[in-house]
Amino acid sequence: MTAAGVLLSVRGLEKWFSRGRGAPPVRAVDGVDADLRAGEVLGLVGESGSGKTTVGRCILKLIEPSAGTIRFDGTDLRSLGGRALRQTRRRLQMVFQDPYSSLNPRMQVGQIVSEPLRVHRATPRSDMGERVRELLGRVDLSEDFAGHYPHEMSGGQRQRVAIARALALEPELIVADEPVAALDVSVQAQILGIFLDLKKHHGIAMLFISHDIAVVERIADRIAVMYAGRIVEEASTKRLLARPLHPYTRALLAAVPVAGAAEPPPRLRLRGEPPPPSVTLSGCPFASRCPLVEDRCRVEAPTIEEKAPGHVTACHVAPSGVTPAT
Ligand code: ADP
Ligand code: MG
Repeated sequence: MTAAGVLLSVRGLEKWFSRGRGAPPVRAVDGVDADLRAGEVLGLVGESGSGKTTVGRCILKLIEPSAGTIRFDGTDLRSLGGRALRQTRRRLQMVFQDPYSSLNPRMQVGQIVSEPLRVHRATPRSDMGERVRELLGRVDLSEDFAGHYPHEMSGGQRQRVAIARALALEPELIVADEPVAALDVSVQAQILGIFLDLKKHHGIAMLFISHDIAVVERIADRIAVMYAGRIVEEASTKRLLARPLHPYTRALLAAVPVAGAAEPPPRLRLRGEPPPPSVTLSGCPFASRCPLVEDRCRVEAPTIEEKAPGHVTACHVAPSGVTPAT
């Protein structure tokens, strides 16, 4: 662990996808900075296409960033290879939106959950049954499920299996990418409860990705709001909901019922669509949709600035964060 307790540190992350000769690349991630302390949950919210999944995949080294650094526990992930990379990889795990596609349909649950332990030789064969029981217990599944196949289970049960598998190697960080988006609302609450338990009782840090700020609000200590490949605002969950500064965050909050939100009038509404990610923008990426847009927003991109302690936003027109309490 580094001195400041920062487990994951992302700086200047960019990911451009090429679209073939002549076509401009897709700028999926366009300069993202983020820090995650041990045991902390950072929620990453934003509309579909804003680059959330790409950030998560870069952090797990599932894809190579185009630029920027990702340090995990002080080590630049790009510098790691071979054994050192394998050792670090087991400390980082991912849970996906669709457990059906992430679970091998030909394996039984017991095999699915124990596979990482076998691959990393982390548990003696004689202890494997007990370890699988214990992991299933942590996601509130009885040991009877060890002999089941994914197709015999409900969506919520499959997501529990995916979480149990992610826990097998006792990770310090889980990137959960829309882990409840495919589930019914009642099941969402149960699965969120499992993630909350991992945070509270096991101290696992999480990057919790969701398009739904009402979901993220329930679990995140801090929330980062992404728009068109950039983080446009980040603050503690409480602060972001009570005093959102960026017009995009305010519009997101005005659109959904969020328990802790106090959207001051006037309520901002989103119009139009985000810019296509292949367009080179000179000004603020949100300018085309912003209800508060001013002339300079169209020509000059705002940099991210701290408006109050721990509260950053990238906006020319956002009010200062240090307004007196009302
Ligand atoms: P989100 O998870 O917020 O919905 P993504 O990270 O999936 O956003 O996508 C961000 C942008 O990058 C989108 O415009 C998407 O179409 C594009 N993109 C993502 N993956 C690829 C890929 N492998 N090739 C080309 N474009 C991609
Ligand atoms: Mg996504």
